[in-house]
Amino acid sequence: MNYFLFIQYIIIFILGLLIGNFVTTIYYRLPKNIIIYGFNEKFSKPPFCSNCNHPLRFYEYLPILGWLTNGGKCNYCLANISFSYTIIEIACSLLAIYCFYSFKNNPDLFILVFLLGISIILGIAIYITYNIIPLSITTSIILEAIIFHALYNQTIIYTLSSLCFATIFCLILLRKDNLNYRNQPIKIPLILILTVLLLPFLMSY
Ligand SMILES: [Zn+2]
Repeated sequence: MNYFLFIQYIIIFILGLLIGNFVTTIYYRLPKNIIIYGFNEKFSKPPFCSNCNHPLRFYEYLPILGWLTNGGKCNYCLANISFSYTIIEIACSLLAIYCFYSFKNNPDLFILVFLLGISIILGIAIYITYNIIPLSITTSIILEAIIFHALYNQTIIYTLSSLCFATIFCLILLRKDNLNYRNQPIKIPLILILTVLLLPFLMSY
């Protein structure tokens, strides 16, 4: 591996970490309906400790580095910072490296697969923590999948038909599960995502 390529991978890794840091912000704020700082400075608040609400300085929420410098604890209230943030950041940077390795000659695919991957990481992380998948994440995954197949297979008929199949499948499931679906409404978007992602691959063989 030559030096130039090595430096490229390092830059992609750091960029992935920084984007992953933003992903953790969405992961924390989206299910709680907190506006993300920067979009609306009047009504939103800068990064803060989720335990004592103390605003954080920029180096205190840096990916990995911030976690290492304060030993996984908040500098103000000493509460433990969940390791899940670091896992999300690392997952995003590994995803960036995978996308760069696979699609570095195809910027369209690089960005699409990266966005798709990030939406899936976010969906899984929020699902594990809160047992829900926000509708905005489901929608973004479906949109990204449709664009992906339009570019990659030059057709969106597979995606559209799989979306129909997924919807019918979910409706049947919903009807069968009628009595207790209120307790687990999450399964519907999850199945929708999986079917939308899987069916086009099945149908292309
Ligand atoms: Zn704190």
